[in-house]
Amino acid sequence: MTRKVMVITGGSRGIGAATAQLAATRDYAVCISYVRNRDAADEVVRAIENSGGEAIAVQADVSSQEDVIKLFEAADNTLGTVDALVNNAGILEHQMRVEDMDAGRLARIFATNVTGSFLCAREAVRRMSTARGGKGGGIVNVSSIAARLGAPGEYVDYAASKAAIDAMTIGLAQEVAAEGIRVNAVRPGVIYTEIHASGGEPGRVDRVKDAVPMKRGGDAVEVANAILWLLSDQASYTTGSFINVTGGR
Ligand code: NAP
Repeated sequence: MTRKVMVITGGSRGIGAATAQLAATRDYAVCISYVRNRDAADEVVRAIENSGGEAIAVQADVSSQEDVIKLFEAADNTLGTVDALVNNAGILEHQMRVEDMDAGRLARIFATNVTGSFLCAREAVRRMSTARGGKGGGIVNVSSIAARLGAPGEYVDYAASKAAIDAMTIGLAQEVAAEGIRVNAVRPGVIYTEIHASGGEPGRVDRVKDAVPMKRGGDAVEVANAILWLLSDQASYTTGSFINVTGGR
């Protein structure tokens, strides 16, 4: 199998780290980005290298155009041109009602979750599009089932940012479908990662898991498996599509 190159934003922890490790077992050289947690990013790279894979970690805030350009240039120069992008980096903030949200919070959420995904998709399309001399590729956006449920009382802003990602997935998929690029998304449900602690409730998955038809939270690798399938040749006629990885919710 020919080695391919995958860029995964937010690959230092959680779903991004699980995706990086799985991708490395499927003949991808992996470029992960992180924003603050260098030790965790280095640990993911070390684990991949110890298993015989190839990976680099780049500090790049996805909400910064300059950083995103730097991220893709680092991948170009060290691993080669990107074949697959996973727009995974995402944040939420402490649970609150809409009436208590201020402009600063909204700007942070939309800058990382929406602008960041657009900027990374832009860099990927510029390299992948057959209309620009590229050889095609795949993009998977990590949305959330919150885009469908709205996350009332917790983070409607986050849910709205993920709904924007869903619209971007549909629109971009059609824009580049004839240029060799497939664009899809996964919508995870409640997955055991540290993101819930950043929302102020580390034990959130266990609190809500009984509302999940399967009566459990998901593991990051269960999301990674869906991402890797969407990027694989097995999904060759699938674009503008969504996989809910939610235990039935
Ligand atoms: P996580 O454990 O909190 O990890 C977040 C990752 O994103 C980290 O690698 C973090 O880097 C990185 N990151 C945060 N802000 C960034 C920025 N501005 N630029 C670049 N990287 C940034 O989160 P997770 O649960 O794995 O979530 C991954 C994705 O899945 C997110 O888009 C999230 O919305 C989505 N999701 C998660 C769940 C869930 O239940 N966990 C459910 C639905 C959707 P540092 O380590 O440097 O901070």
